[in-house]
Amino acid sequence: MKSRIYYTKPSITELEVAYATDAARNGWGDCCYEYITRFEEAFKAHLGVTYAIATSSCTGALHMGLAALGVGPGDEVILADTNWIATAAPIVHLGAKPVFVDILSDSWCIDPALAAAAITPCTKAIIAVHLYGNLCEMDRLLAIGTTHGIPIIEDAAEAIGSVSDGRRAGSMGAFGSFSFHGTKTLTTGEGGMFVTNDAALYETVLTLSNHGRARGQTKQFWPDMLGFKYKMSNIQAAIGCAQMERVDELIKRKREILRYYRDRIERTPWVKMNPEQAGTVNGAWMPTAVFDAETGMTCESLQEAFVAENIDARPFFHPLSSLSMFEDQPQNRLAWGIPGRAINLPSYADLTVTELGRVSDVVHHQSRP
Ligand SMILES: *Cc1c(COP(=O)(O)O)cnc(C)c1O
Repeated sequence: MKSRIYYTKPSITELEVAYATDAARNGWGDCCYEYITRFEEAFKAHLGVTYAIATSSCTGALHMGLAALGVGPGDEVILADTNWIATAAPIVHLGAKPVFVDILSDSWCIDPALAAAAITPCTKAIIAVHLYGNLCEMDRLLAIGTTHGIPIIEDAAEAIGSVSDGRRAGSMGAFGSFSFHGTKTLTTGEGGMFVTNDAALYETVLTLSNHGRARGQTKQFWPDMLGFKYKMSNIQAAIGCAQMERVDELIKRKREILRYYRDRIERTPWVKMNPEQAGTVNGAWMPTAVFDAETGMTCESLQEAFVAENIDARPFFHPLSSLSMFEDQPQNRLAWGIPGRAINLPSYADLTVTELGRVSDVVHHQSRP
């Protein structure tokens, strides 16, 4: 049996271990926020934003950001049908309705024209999710937001390292959210980040994130509003600080892996991979191969081929509207059609050239229609 190739694995060095150990040993009492503050500062500097709040997850960051924007019962929030459930769940928890629109054929991200067409008087926000590191068409979305007075939110959980005309993913919208789950490019085990350039929004989320206790409140145990508890621990942040020192290296390796696959796989004209439009950089979180419909390829046969080679490849996101808690929307034809002929390929720092070759070979053998 060939050795197992996992689809993702964090890159943990002695630096992460040393910082986490220091936080566990010394990061208490007066020092209990030191790594958290340092992690937030490093993240702000990397992204080029004014404010950042470390959170326990990206889901938590989205939940608080949406709440701070006033999303509530009767409201609608527009997002792509192709998505992880984490982006939609907070909308539902706030009593609002997620409105799922179809995706673009090349980036698999929200189609701006369809997002604009879905706007109603109830629309409270549009969420741009940079799927697998592929950038949404932010200029078009931001213009739509300006025209209609609707905030554009960036779920950049998958897009550390993605850049559009010098602006990093997550820094362009009303606010951005990030995930440091163990499968993401930069990890703290579990964790997330809320980022914004909007001072008022920052203050509201900061208060919400501290169980509703406002910064200036001197009375102890006195919440000024009903808030949330989505904080990151100092020990997680210590790992995050080490990862931030290595962030360029982590992104570079992700991009190398995507380039390797593209060079090998995209020679076959009926397989498309993550695009990189002019003026953009793709952070390459998740290399993905999409077969043309004419190939008759199925997700099942692809997965079988990978299992036979002891490779852990993952299915493309199911359309959220196909899940039991939402209404079917098969008219979102790309979101419903692509998963059946697509596959996520393994990508992590320690993958060897031999292993990358094994993965590419499986795709190649499937590539003869
Ligand atoms: C991973 C992910 C999330 C959820 O992140 P958590 O930190 O697990 O809450 C949200 N949105 C997208 C697009 C993701 O990929």
